[in-house]
Amino acid sequence: MLVVMQEGASEAHIQKVIDRLTEDGFDVHRSTGVIHTVLGGVGGPEDFDTAVFEVMDGVKEVHRIISPYKLASRAFRPQGTIVRVRDVDIGGKKVVVMAGPCSVESRDQIERAADIVANGGAQVIRGGAFKPRSSPYSFQGLGEEGLKLMREAADRRHLLVISEVMDSTQIPLLSAYADILQVGARNMQNFNLLRELGKIRKPVLLKRGISATIEELLLSAEYILSGGNYDVILCERGIRTFETYTRNTMDVSAIPVVKKLSHLPMVADPSHGTGRRDQVPPMARAAVAAGADGLLMEVHHDPDHALSDGAQSLKPDQYSELMDQLRMIAPAVGRTI
Ligand code: PEP
Ligand code: MN
Repeated sequence: MLVVMQEGASEAHIQKVIDRLTEDGFDVHRSTGVIHTVLGGVGGPEDFDTAVFEVMDGVKEVHRIISPYKLASRAFRPQGTIVRVRDVDIGGKKVVVMAGPCSVESRDQIERAADIVANGGAQVIRGGAFKPRSSPYSFQGLGEEGLKLMREAADRRHLLVISEVMDSTQIPLLSAYADILQVGARNMQNFNLLRELGKIRKPVLLKRGISATIEELLLSAEYILSGGNYDVILCERGIRTFETYTRNTMDVSAIPVVKKLSHLPMVADPSHGTGRRDQVPPMARAAVAAGADGLLMEVHHDPDHALSDGAQSLKPDQYSELMDQLRMIAPAVGRTI
């Protein structure tokens, strides 16, 4: 249930509604907008009488939410969510670019990557230290050493760091080095991990699973939000279809759909979305044109010798040419980059 308070409702009136919701068995989540405060009541009785709340002082309107996800729904924050990470806003006017190698491989590699992505205009460097590889014999990542190297490279260039957390025991380590914790496609429905991420106060980027519907993605986000961590960023990274030419099928339509159904920022990963470096720029351009709040892209100084995902990693000149193109496309859809 959502209780929308009147413009300028007093703190005392808001508190009375919170108390009543709690008394009735709801978990209360508060969203303070510029105009209205919205109170989300989750998990209460099905048969409650909305009139009880409608007549309370300071209440503008009350809605039952019929979608299975409540806190992730657009109605909870009609104005949209901006996730602020240090001095970077994700979900605002500026399209945020997160770029870097698939995996952190060495100091030299991540320093070169940091130079390339910072010079091109990215705000965030990406790089995996713990890698979910399809084969146990493939490179699994440098672990903590990789995080350390990436943090140092980022700090020298005023970049934020995003890196993948593969299970809940890694949360403290990732939180110590990264500004945004990435949940990979394979873990989108690792509900224990999602619950634990709901308890921390660090932004989480949640990728869509390879065969997950948009509703399942939003329900996974709901696990994190319902724990009280509202800094969730969603990411389309391609889904598995019958097509074999590309590694995955980049579902660009998921971007406007999610933006309609949810208030959460939505970014796009055209690297895993296509698996082929020649297809990354067109899908990145399409994602920005479709309203993505950010891009997550793989870039490597020497992709032919990358330890993971070389085929889909942009070469430095491709990346900088793409960034130039995006700087022309973004204003056409009311954004900057
Ligand atoms: C990654 O970003 O390197 C990654 C493993 O992505 P995904 O979980 O989308 O496969
Ligand atoms: Mn990768």
